[in-house]
Amino acid sequence: MADIISFEGRRSEAGDESQSQRRIRLMRAEYRRVIEESRPGACDRCGEAISAGEREDRPIRQVPYSFCDTCAAEYVDFVERLQGRGDPDCYWHNDIWLEIWRRWIDYRSALDRYRRSRELRWMADELEGLTSDE
Ligand SMILES: [Zn+2]
Repeated sequence: MADIISFEGRRSEAGDESQSQRRIRLMRAEYRRVIEESRPGACDRCGEAISAGEREDRPIRQVPYSFCDTCAAEYVDFVERLQGRGDPDCYWHNDIWLEIWRRWIDYRSALDRYRRSRELRWMADELEGLTSDE
């Protein structure tokens, strides 16, 4: 009887260990995806590298994100279409395209709030503590 309890105890310890490793792997993935991906010099929307000059050329009120030239042009057209204008040559900027932009802006807003959340900061601190222990 004692052997059975001991065996289950060992199995439980092994299970806890892999659960812990799984948790650390998930934390590292989240850190890379949410914190490291917000690197400066990359387009917020498509991830293309952008030069400092590209960013400085644009008034922040016109494009409040860090966009490459292509995404900035699309964003400006999006805003103009909301105001009843927009580039008539870009006929593919239809209602679905507008919806994609609206949802991207909602997504981006939620992502920014998530990045500032205390839970994500706790996770980053915990991960930093784990990494410095290695
Ligand atoms: Zn882009």
